[in-house]
Amino acid sequence: MVSIEACKRRRARLAEMMGEGVAIVPTAPERARNRDSHYPYRFDSYFYYLTAFTEPEAVLVVIGGASPRSVLFCRAKSEEREIWDGFRYGPEAARAAFELDEACAIESLDEELPKLLADRERVYFNLGADPAWDARLSGWLNALRAQARSGVRAPTEVVDLRSLLDPMRRVKDEAELATMRRAAAISTSAHRRAMQLARPGMHEYELEAELLREFIRHGAQAPAYSPIVAAGSNACVLHYVANRSRLEAGELVLIDAGCELDGYASDITRTFPVTGRFEGPRQALYDLVLAAQLEAIEAVRPGNHFNDPHAAAVRVLAQGMLDLGLLQGQIDGVIESGAYQRFYMHRTGHWLGLDVHDAGDYGAEGKWAALEPGMVLTVEPGIYVRPGDDVPEAFWHIGIRVEDDVLVNAAGREVLTAAAPKSVREIEALMRSR
Ligand code: MG
Ligand code: ZN
Repeated sequence: MVSIEACKRRRARLAEMMGEGVAIVPTAPERARNRDSHYPYRFDSYFYYLTAFTEPEAVLVVIGGASPRSVLFCRAKSEEREIWDGFRYGPEAARAAFELDEACAIESLDEELPKLLADRERVYFNLGADPAWDARLSGWLNALRAQARSGVRAPTEVVDLRSLLDPMRRVKDEAELATMRRAAAISTSAHRRAMQLARPGMHEYELEAELLREFIRHGAQAPAYSPIVAAGSNACVLHYVANRSRLEAGELVLIDAGCELDGYASDITRTFPVTGRFEGPRQALYDLVLAAQLEAIEAVRPGNHFNDPHAAAVRVLAQGMLDLGLLQGQIDGVIESGAYQRFYMHRTGHWLGLDVHDAGDYGAEGKWAALEPGMVLTVEPGIYVRPGDDVPEAFWHIGIRVEDDVLVNAAGREVLTAAAPKSVREIEALMRSR
């Protein structure tokens, strides 16, 4: 369960940072899948971060300044609708349960919003997130401008709310870390299960089903993203999600899957042999990727910056590619020219939190974001070998990635997903025990 207390603290901090500003934070809309059927509902991450409220059709307004307060607009109670769709809080119960200052029915939004914005200098809003809400904000501002002759002033600035919330979201508090540890534990148990069940002749979707089973039966609400179960050459397709192929003896299977628990994502990749035994060129490439990943994890610590783990992984991978004959030349040359990108074309990680690719600035070359305690990032080097005249044939069609979720702490780091085996010895031992 997400901490109501933490949400309250975040709203107070936001109100303080905004001064005379007002923040408007709508949750996500429900989306139709086809005809009368909807996609499973997922709230907006910013809205949830500030409220813990999970119903659709809701808007949070946070008012800064001398007397800060938070107002929730949500669906009214309705016996008729609740018979069909289930319980809804209604404004009064939501206000009490989620410890907001005021709550109103969502139907009154267009009437109330201009009043809340009157004579305020700034509106904080996630512009561009949803064209429908952008238009609605314009409408409220125009309603206020129309009252100029009665002495009402409309805000003159619209500021990107992300500029205040993203730095907050990038550093996780204890309440968030508790949820993320639990999400990681569920996902690691799912990966262990997949390793124990994999056999030649199974299909990728059968392993996908086992992952989802493990997520859901432990209380996770959903996968945090579409699971990738990629056997053999499918692993060379970075966003492979078809999951329809058969697992063949002699191949590896790459699984990139993590659950979402109470809004928080986990994101784990493991690659292992279908038969349970690493061999030959597959083992050589696996050893290389794992060595790069361990090196990159070592580079996660306060004082280092976001790009350090990537630079560490690239150095190990590039050297390995030279040693194995995938590349020719000198280490500095293949790094400088980017020649290694033929086999390692993505970056080594991303922030992780409410979103799999979480909110938060990464910086840029020369001014990368500094790593601080409380930040969570993935570390996920890989290698993907497509056939080519100048590529040793033994390595063709092999795709490997190893990904963990890593918390920066004062001592250095904590690997949240360490319970999923990744050394050759551990994986083979687990798969032998099946
Ligand atoms: Mg992943
Ligand atoms: Zn990832």
